[in-house]
Amino acid sequence: MAVQIPIASGNVVGQEAADGSTEVRPDLSFKRETLVNVMFFGTPSSWVLIDTGIPGSAGSIKDISAKRFGEESRPECIVLTHGHFDHVGTLLELAGEWDVPVYAHVLEHPYLNGTLSYPSPDVWAGGGIMPLLSPLFPTSPVDVGARLHALPADHSVPAMPGWVCIHTPGHTPGHVSLWRESDRTIIAGDAFITTGQESAYEILVQRPEIHGPPRYFTPDWQAAKQSVQQLAALEPDLVLTGHGQALSGAEMRQALHKLADEFEAIAMPR
Ligand SMILES: [Zn+2]
Ligand SMILES: [Zn+2]
Repeated sequence: MAVQIPIASGNVVGQEAADGSTEVRPDLSFKRETLVNVMFFGTPSSWVLIDTGIPGSAGSIKDISAKRFGEESRPECIVLTHGHFDHVGTLLELAGEWDVPVYAHVLEHPYLNGTLSYPSPDVWAGGGIMPLLSPLFPTSPVDVGARLHALPADHSVPAMPGWVCIHTPGHTPGHVSLWRESDRTIIAGDAFITTGQESAYEILVQRPEIHGPPRYFTPDWQAAKQSVQQLAALEPDLVLTGHGQALSGAEMRQALHKLADEFEAIAMPR
């Protein structure tokens, strides 16, 4: 097993909101849908859904959206950190029902317009039961058709003023993280995560730790390392990732630097 960087539970942040999500900033909350987080940004007058969870989560996402932003409200758009099945599971359903544009990095488009499948998962990476189950996970692309748009080349994020989009490849070619400097918040997708994701036990327990990208689905470890270095250098105050709880504070930052500095030993499969 790889080295772990555990984080004391006192660094977990977030308030349970009345809508069922966990609020980490006044305008940012998330909900864990079985094994992956979906993020809600904004206010009732303008909001954005970031990632869309596993198949079957649409009801829960719509329920939170209605309570948080209003019964008939719909987002300005859906923004994707990347196109893995656990992040696009309800994309077709929600984008269709809301009739909204979908934004993703242009290098991720082949996996979202039906052109390309992700490489097969590296089933022996990381040990545990998830790698043995991962061949069951779909790798074939979804096709959102004409709703799909490229994230702006100027690094702005549609309907998310104050945020910039950072290309953080490695876990997938067009993976992005979102960064807001004013309160030093990162939405990191799977560039790194805050819990072990390789075993059913880890997923059940959700022990906080700074963890490299999920091992069995990461094809380019060199790029993944550079992406973590780039995010660590931002010195974030709060990190919200695709898997695990939101973390804040100096211990988190220290651990993120440790992950960046010792990436081969900590994150990469043997
Ligand atoms: Zn992923
Ligand atoms: Zn994921």
